[in-house]
Amino acid sequence: MTACGSEGTSGSDTETIGISMPTQSSERWVNDGENMVSELEELGYETDLQYGEDVVEDQASQIENMITEGVDALVIAPIDGEALTNVLDMAENSDIPVIAYDRLLMNHEHVSYYATFDNFEVGVIQGEYIVENLGLEDGEGPYNIELFAGSPDDNNAYFFWDGAMSVLEPYMESGDLVVRSEQVDFEQAATPQWSGSDAQERMDNILSSHYSSEELDAVYSPFDGISLGVISSLKSVGYGTEDQPLPLITGQDADTSSVQSIIDGEQTQTIFKDTRELADKAVDMVDAVINDEEAEVNDTETYDNGEKVVPASLLEPVSVDQSNYEEVLIESGYYSKEDFEME
Ligand code: BGC
Repeated sequence: MTACGSEGTSGSDTETIGISMPTQSSERWVNDGENMVSELEELGYETDLQYGEDVVEDQASQIENMITEGVDALVIAPIDGEALTNVLDMAENSDIPVIAYDRLLMNHEHVSYYATFDNFEVGVIQGEYIVENLGLEDGEGPYNIELFAGSPDDNNAYFFWDGAMSVLEPYMESGDLVVRSEQVDFEQAATPQWSGSDAQERMDNILSSHYSSEELDAVYSPFDGISLGVISSLKSVGYGTEDQPLPLITGQDADTSSVQSIIDGEQTQTIFKDTRELADKAVDMVDAVINDEEAEVNDTETYDNGEKVVPASLLEPVSVDQSNYEEVLIESGYYSKEDFEME
């Protein structure tokens, strides 16, 4: 055994993985970052985790610094999927492999793999939840619904929207779901930067213009932060009482504040994306690119970033509401009972 220990353990030549995440303002990304760091460190890697805090330029310069410092691989969840092509040029020139994490990196061929959830399926599950719980299949209705979409600079936002619309559109066409605002296009429904306060403002405007003499029965929201903004708006005009209950409201991420809202009977549903599983997948991909091996993927068709179809691993999203949050979120060890106030 030599003192420098070059016999195949990762001890001496420790590789560093740069992890670039979009924001700490939403809990899921904090969990993503922590899971990635702990899983990579368990395998003997060093990590450099940074958050762009939703400022596109800051994320780009953080990644540039990682490249200059000579990281061995990059895992990136972009704020704006189209804004990092120069950074990807730099990574390519320095032979640093790149994994896209949860959100796709667009318009560049230097993306080895994509670890994510089945994003279209997220939208389908949200749409089906609305259809089933309003009883539309049993001929109930018509019901009033308003639609929110995610951030236009995030490729995922289009997948969520398309998935949801694939389920909701037939009911909108038949008149069983009525969008009184008539804001039915992605562009009209979009929420830049996934901002809850922008969503709240848009809901305020829609309620005052279209619902002075109508009740709103459902809101399609793709993200918990948007759902909470929408709920604040609704409560400010009197929803949330026995006489005027809140509409059915979907969400995504199972952030603790939204799970609490579900427990309290305000938000109706969310989508749980197990960030432990996502970190596992991304770590497998990192390990593969570092060791010049191939990572296991289950999708080689869907995620065309404009320059290449990026081989992807798609995980299964899970619908959560009052009926199953304990089983899915607490019994699985993702959260503990103490994270919530039970009635
Ligand atoms: C993620 C979602 C998240 C949204 C807002 C999307 O790219 O896939 O899980 O709700 O960004 O952060």
